[in-house]
Amino acid sequence: MTRVIENITGSAAETIETKGAAKVATRPKPTNLYEDVRSLILDIVDKMHLEERYPRQNIVQRFLEPDKVIVFTVYVQRDNGSVDIFECYRVQHDDTLGCYKGGIRFHPEVNLDEVKALATWMTIKTALVDIPFGGAKGGIKVDPTKLSVAELERLVRKYTQGLLNDIGPASDIPAPDVGTSSREMAWIYDEYRKHRTVARGVVTGKPIEVGGSLGRSAATGNGMVCTMMQAIKDLGLKDPTVAIQGFGNVGSHAALACAARGITVDAVNDVYGGIYNNQGINIPALVQHVNQTGSVVGFSGADKLLDDIIAYPCDILLPCALEGAITAENAHMVQARLIVEGANGPVTLDADDVLNDMGVLIIPDILANSGGVIVSYYETVQNRQGLYWEEKKVNDLLYRQITKAYQQVSNMARKQNISYRKASYYLAIDKIARAIIMRGAQ
Ligand code: GLU
Repeated sequence: MTRVIENITGSAAETIETKGAAKVATRPKPTNLYEDVRSLILDIVDKMHLEERYPRQNIVQRFLEPDKVIVFTVYVQRDNGSVDIFECYRVQHDDTLGCYKGGIRFHPEVNLDEVKALATWMTIKTALVDIPFGGAKGGIKVDPTKLSVAELERLVRKYTQGLLNDIGPASDIPAPDVGTSSREMAWIYDEYRKHRTVARGVVTGKPIEVGGSLGRSAATGNGMVCTMMQAIKDLGLKDPTVAIQGFGNVGSHAALACAARGITVDAVNDVYGGIYNNQGINIPALVQHVNQTGSVVGFSGADKLLDDIIAYPCDILLPCALEGAITAENAHMVQARLIVEGANGPVTLDADDVLNDMGVLIIPDILANSGGVIVSYYETVQNRQGLYWEEKKVNDLLYRQITKAYQQVSNMARKQNISYRKASYYLAIDKIARAIIMRGAQ
């Protein structure tokens, strides 16, 4: 079968988001994320005495199992006339605090357990940062770099048709995730609009032209760097240096946010390879290079990095690629004192223990990368109001909201003498559990 490989184009921010489209990252080794997230939840609810607080209410079960799992197949015609089959998922985990919310991932290794884990994280994340949403996640098992733009559009439209009765501006709001961007959100909106009258708010992360929010594409990277700046202060790090794994939407915007705050980025990589310069990399120039070539490789202002970026000698490591990047096998190689998780689940549960023992502070994904869904919430509010905000307002509100969550987590971690990850789960689960009880179960 002939397969068309096309690079994805779009606005500057989208270009960063999806560049390198000719190659998709693979995970170092299979990890069972869902088992990891469930065992962490069990550990936390035990510490919280949740069962004793609310006996026989089955609250724990609500966190362990999603509300609804949607699995379906779609048939999509390729440009050469042949028809391919794609596995599609949407997992709605919990909507106690508001409608289901979470991205859609296109990746060849997408599977049901992964989508369930990602949906669970969305429930915890939205509760932690105090936005009125629940948690969901979607995915298609596809390598988007192997489809033409027309084929991708047909796939997105079929996926949307399959979910017409499940998604909606007041029920379940998808957004971009790995392998998708504002372009796919515009297609979902357009397909949904053919069938429903109220449609603007059906997805977030839309292009500005069709109701997106200013500041949304940079929000995850910006939010990460807000939490990073707090942690730098708390740890008393002087002139820290940063290494970034992954230079997609999250990594590139985190790099730009570091540069804007005068923080030196010494090393970055992407699926093609890595580069370093121990005098600091010129990030705006690197972003320009990536926009032109599709990769960080070959950037003239740095040398080729041969070793694993996880082991790069730096103060701060930002894993912004896929889950399972740091495992029990390679955790001992980490030299950084601070890890800020841009990806979802980049540190496995085993590795988390190793790094905690090594004294490395980890700002967990559900806090560190929450800037994306926080600004998704602002996008929903703007869509409902029909009134659009200036970028400064979006960024100021994001900064305030994520900083408040960071402070709550760091206070709780200190008070209970637990990791930031455990403190984050603790706060979020407590909030949801209280709401479940107040709402009653009749
Ligand atoms: N995919 C992003 C995440 O994992 C954003 C989700 C959203 O905006 O709904 O947080």
